[in-house]
Amino acid sequence: MYDVIIVGAGPAGSTAAKHTAENGLDTIILEKQKLPRKKPCAGLVSQRALNNLEVEIPESLIKRRCYGTRVIYKKHVLESKLDSQVGIQVSRSEFDYYLVQQAANAGAKVLDNTLVNSVYEDKDYISINTNEGLFKSRFLIGADGVNSVCSRYISGVESGKKAFSLNSDVPVSVEYINSRYSDLTEVDFGIVKNGYFWAFPKDIHISVGMGIFGNTSKSKPLNAYKANIKNKGFDYKKPQGHFIPIGGYKRKICSSRILLAGDAAGFVDAFLGEGVPYAIMSGKIAANTIIETFKDNNFSDDKLSDYVKKCDDAFKENLKYSLIFSKLFYRFPSIFATMLTNNKTMLDHALLVVKGESGYKQFVRWLVPRFPYYIMKILKNRSIHRLRSNN
Ligand SMILES: Cc1cc2nc3c(=O)[nH]c(=O)nc-3n(C[C@H](O)[C@H](O)[C@H](O)COP(=O)(O)OP(=O)(O)OC[C@H]3O[C@@H](n4cnc5c(N)ncnc54)[C@H](O)[C@@H]3O)c2cc1C
Repeated sequence: MYDVIIVGAGPAGSTAAKHTAENGLDTIILEKQKLPRKKPCAGLVSQRALNNLEVEIPESLIKRRCYGTRVIYKKHVLESKLDSQVGIQVSRSEFDYYLVQQAANAGAKVLDNTLVNSVYEDKDYISINTNEGLFKSRFLIGADGVNSVCSRYISGVESGKKAFSLNSDVPVSVEYINSRYSDLTEVDFGIVKNGYFWAFPKDIHISVGMGIFGNTSKSKPLNAYKANIKNKGFDYKKPQGHFIPIGGYKRKICSSRILLAGDAAGFVDAFLGEGVPYAIMSGKIAANTIIETFKDNNFSDDKLSDYVKKCDDAFKENLKYSLIFSKLFYRFPSIFATMLTNNKTMLDHALLVVKGESGYKQFVRWLVPRFPYYIMKILKNRSIHRLRSNN
């Protein structure tokens, strides 16, 4: 019997495994895919994520450093750049594999090609049924992503509300990337209802994708994606569709012996779909919660419930406010996206939120008193445009 079984070798699972193994717990990761596995992702690992990682990322894994962004809404375009790094651009397959290797170096066993079909919680242990047979452990961390088997077991549903995304890596020349993007990401809020289109430059390709955070029935995502690829002058490469949990909603994330981390727990920014920082943070908190139960030799039923409070303290507020902002922004894009693409101070502040130097709560609180003035400016500009075009 293992002390801890971790389902899933993404950033949440590997971070958790590294910590439990380092602290002497007999740990195994069960991963359904062959490692290194493919992970569809825009590939921006923000400074917020790196600050929580406690692992130095080797230069060879960094495809590009990101210092800023270019935001587009219809005819409006605005850029913002910080003096310090907002994050790094990586290939998620390489980045995630590096994290799994760190967990293995710390002493965790890693079993790939092992699909967890079901889990069952007994009074003193967990049984895990896989294609490789039955495993047992004292505790389990469900880090098995957006379609989590573990989440379905403890809450009866998968990880709740989800966004839909399309993504592909489009090969382009280095010269093109350097001249058009350099160290900027590009996001366009004028392409699809309830979401945005991204172009995140790497070394020899660009991750091009689209996330939709509301109803997709009127969005015709694939048509919008194809049209925009053409408009932006990229070669069309068939995108893959994926779901991303929408964070900020209340979800059941623990039982007596199971903790959910990362996407399985729904820990994702509801405005942009950024999940790596919260996967890392929750993986670490889950591991520490289990390490403490072993240290205290306290295996009582409610011991793991501390996990909820610790996650709340670490990032609940940020996810809650990302959801509030997301709902407002995508409901009224002609107001908010126009503001963001015309107001450098606002965009600078938004970039600090992505970097992790500020949070959504601070951002929303900063915006509220300025909102009437910013709205007046937009309306004034619109009347001037109207007058000019009538003359
Ligand atoms: C298109 C797209 C773009 C994104 N872009 C960004 C971005 O730029 N920056 C960012 O921060 N976030 C981004 N995200 C979100 C980010 O990818 C996730 O939030 C993050 O990967 C969550 O990490 P995780 O460890 O919880 O889950 P995952 O990384 O999804 O890992 C879960 C692992 O569990 C394994 N697994 C699943 N089910 C089972 C099972 N039954 N048995 C065994 N193993 C199983 C999977 O194979 C997988 O390896 C993006 C997501 C998508 C879909």
